[in-house]
Amino acid sequence: MPESTVTNAAAIDEQELDLAWLRQKYLEERQKRINARGNSQYIEVKGDFSRFIDDPYVDGPLVRDAVAETVEAIVIGGGFGGLLAAAELHKAGIKDIRIIEKAGDFGGTWYWNRYPGAQCDIESYIYMPLLEETGYIPTEKYAHAAELFAHARRIGEHFDFYPRTHFQTQITELRWDEAESHWVARTDHDDTIKARWVLSASGPLNRPKLPGIPGVDRFKGHTFHTSRWDYDYTGGHSRGGLTKLADKRIAIIGTGATAIQCAPYVAREARHLYVVQRTPSTVDIRGNRPTDFEWAKTLPSGWQRARMDNFNQLVSGIYADVDLVQDGWTFLFGEMTLAHLAEDRAKLSAEELARLTELADFRKGNQIRARLDKVVKDPATADGLKPWYGMMCKRPTFNDDYLEAFNRPNVTLVDTKGRGLDAITETGIVFDGVEYPVDCIIFATGFETGTSYTRRAAMEVYGRNGETLSQHFAGGLRTLHGFFTDNFPNFFMLGLSQNGFKPNVTDMLAEQSEHVVGLIAAARATGATRIEPQPEAVDAWVGTIREKSEVARKFLATCTPGYFTGEGEIDKGVFVDTYGDGSVAFTALLREWREAGERSGLKVW
Ligand code: NDP
Repeated sequence: MPESTVTNAAAIDEQELDLAWLRQKYLEERQKRINARGNSQYIEVKGDFSRFIDDPYVDGPLVRDAVAETVEAIVIGGGFGGLLAAAELHKAGIKDIRIIEKAGDFGGTWYWNRYPGAQCDIESYIYMPLLEETGYIPTEKYAHAAELFAHARRIGEHFDFYPRTHFQTQITELRWDEAESHWVARTDHDDTIKARWVLSASGPLNRPKLPGIPGVDRFKGHTFHTSRWDYDYTGGHSRGGLTKLADKRIAIIGTGATAIQCAPYVAREARHLYVVQRTPSTVDIRGNRPTDFEWAKTLPSGWQRARMDNFNQLVSGIYADVDLVQDGWTFLFGEMTLAHLAEDRAKLSAEELARLTELADFRKGNQIRARLDKVVKDPATADGLKPWYGMMCKRPTFNDDYLEAFNRPNVTLVDTKGRGLDAITETGIVFDGVEYPVDCIIFATGFETGTSYTRRAAMEVYGRNGETLSQHFAGGLRTLHGFFTDNFPNFFMLGLSQNGFKPNVTDMLAEQSEHVVGLIAAARATGATRIEPQPEAVDAWVGTIREKSEVARKFLATCTPGYFTGEGEIDKGVFVDTYGDGSVAFTALLREWREAGERSGLKVW
């Protein structure tokens, strides 16, 4: 776009937007939500609360004999991350593996999250991994939970992973054996499994959390967390039919991505639904549609990788001639990152770029709020549902039924205006002196973040000389490229870490698996048995991550609290430690590092 057009567009925006008012409003709404307790406002799910994490999909605890075995590699986690890591090992000829999975089947997120309406919200053609390898085409642009779960099982069968997996099993500790140059894993079934390599893909959002609302343990009605949906209580399945709710008053606590998806289904069946909101989500258009299988037939070999790359380029703010996915994400990120200005960016000062970004943000926020006024009939409810914060402060959501649900006479928004509920009694929920009697409370309150790696992975890792990973990370995460750390040879962490974040997480996990397994394969080819980063390289990478996170930190400090901001403790925010120049630059950095040959900073011996 020529510079004059850029400037004109910005000038028009400024006239249309009341910038001073918007800035003040965002600030005021943020103030209401600051909670001095930060992450400690949440209850760790254990002890009396552990029923919230019991597995409702198996016939009780698994009873089996302990095993003692030696394999080449252990993969921790059987979600898409673990499956991708195992698939890469398989392709590299490393077939003597053991996948350890705490659930009763593969699927990870999609094993646990079977709540009604659960759906991937990154397009399924790029989100569902290994489509070409498994010969599968999803049935919808955004596939629903059962199809996602079935695809995880399909991958498990395709690569024959079932006989090589211990389900309903958790590693409790990993210990490095220096003399033998291998890891010794112990599990909650008293297994002892030795392996040269360990790839950990335990997932960043795997431990449900509960809000520490006074009285949360006093409620005498029914309760569950969305990631353990109780269909015995509600009736139905993940596509609806919750007929047992016909005489029930339900409260859903939370209005994040999960609540947005399940609330419309509960609204349809319950006698009454109270949606308890602390901070509204941004809810944009979804536009799901069935797959055109004629189109699918025309897809050339390599289409999935090309589509993933195109999506990632656009959501990284890099201009592309074509937008293959064309959905809320590519439109949103395109606008927010000013992707259309990519070629002109160099001509703009930092101040001008910041100004244009702020305008784009306010403009998008106004669109979201205008949609609400159009869809929600009661003006007070529409007002209550309006989000007032930067679009990237919280996870954006996309849904075509959630806002409509508030037009039903049996649905009430309990807008706690940033404060959260005041109390839970034996029979209901309380806000501002009003008690709402309910039969069931559904916690759509999300998952632990900002706690230690080992707590979320529910295991301790003992490196060389018995140092624990908890001790090693006590002062913050320290890795080389997010994958490994000094003193813990052959231990690879996959997932959200000090690496390049991609909104399409399965694409990110595929790339990470390929990289890490490539390193293992190269080491094996030379007869090496150890891979470990040098401490100086780790220190340097931590410095790079820190330096490149300054822009994100500054932005997050302006945001309403949530797990992006570590509930106000920016250092605990989920994306703060990721590579600040973005995933495209990170991918290029890894490629150059590999191609340079010497793999600087890594000891392989
Ligand atoms: P979130 O952490 O996003 O949302 C938790 C919700 O609970 C928030 O609305 C939060 O309010 C609210 N809450 C917390 N404490 C209280 C309280 N004391 N009183 C009232 N409300 C409270 O969890 P989700 O399960 O919705 O989503 C987690 C993540 O999982 C998503 O961000 C997304 O990454 C992923 N996800 C992906 C999906 C997909 O791809 N299809 C679908 C669903 C989830 P507040 O905002 O004020 O903190």
